[in-house]
Amino acid sequence: MTISCSYEFFPPGNALGERRFWRTLGCLETLHPSFFSITYGALGSAQDNSVSTIKNVLAESQVPVAAHLTFEGSTKEEINQVAIQLRDMGVDKIVALRGDDRDNALSAAQRGACYNNVAEFIAGLLEIHPFDISVACYPEVHPKAKDADEDVSELKNKVEAGASRAISQFFFDLDAIDRFQERVSAAGISVPVVPGILPIRDFAKMTQFAKRCGTVVPKHLYERFAPAKDDPALAAIIAKDHAEEFIDSLHQRGYERFHIYTLNQPIELAQCAVSPLAVRPQVANA
Ligand SMILES: Cc1cc2nc3c(=O)[nH]c(=O)nc-3n(C[C@H](O)[C@H](O)[C@H](O)COP(=O)(O)OP(=O)(O)OC[C@H]3O[C@@H](n4cnc5c(N)ncnc54)[C@H](O)[C@@H]3O)c2cc1C
Repeated sequence: MTISCSYEFFPPGNALGERRFWRTLGCLETLHPSFFSITYGALGSAQDNSVSTIKNVLAESQVPVAAHLTFEGSTKEEINQVAIQLRDMGVDKIVALRGDDRDNALSAAQRGACYNNVAEFIAGLLEIHPFDISVACYPEVHPKAKDADEDVSELKNKVEAGASRAISQFFFDLDAIDRFQERVSAAGISVPVVPGILPIRDFAKMTQFAKRCGTVVPKHLYERFAPAKDDPALAAIIAKDHAEEFIDSLHQRGYERFHIYTLNQPIELAQCAVSPLAVRPQVANA
């Protein structure tokens, strides 16, 4: 079975982050990923840094780049201008997102000039350029969605607007992805769901992050990481084993594409996530 991986980065915010970013990216490049994606304003990072980071990656790397773009807090004109700038730089992959609520208060007139949902945003992007568009999906339901059905119906709208794949929020519960895939199939959504994988670097931090995202951390993971509470070296070994097993289980379920949330961190964990797959017959660009 042909498999492929994409790796997500956020724009580095200082000199140390910059070094870590390039070291990680350089190592992962050797695995021939399907693309590197660069977040836009995620985790509080400045949106402006995203475009300049993408420019640098395009100059330094042969790997295709997908630019995340969020419309929340921007007028159509503002976010369209960013998309035009990206198109002119040679970017043809976009991860089209709503984004989380931002602090910048828009006036009523500005709000009237904004995209209302991701499907509208995709339509606007496709008027600018025939971008290859990915969207986000939520195996355990987005925390703000009314219910699982509404969540999947929103995903269907995004696909009908032109999205080619749905990259999932990170999750650890294999039953959750099975149930989600059932809802997706029942809704007649035929684009691939790409599991989003978060290698666990810091278990305590991960649990806080998971809470905010609505990701359930199963009891067996708490038990598995408990002996490593004060032992980072042991935690790293457990994390590597877990990432490998998790990806392997998904692969056995038929998933061929994976999106790895690298958090720009040194590469061992991001790489180990694919190592059980890398030894299989083909690792291909997709
Ligand atoms: C792969 C991936 C990459 C991401 N990259 C970034 C990034 O680069 N920058 C960034 O800022 N964020 C990023 N996010 C986070 C994302 O912006 C948030 O999860 C956001 O809240 C929803 O975005 P969406 O595109 O999924 O929106 P939608 O598809 O609109 O929302 C998903 C579901 O949540 C519901 N929902 C969302 N917001 C609301 C609301 N305000 N009221 C009611 N229902 C709501 C929708 O109805 C839908 O069911 C990423 C998430 C994923 C999974």
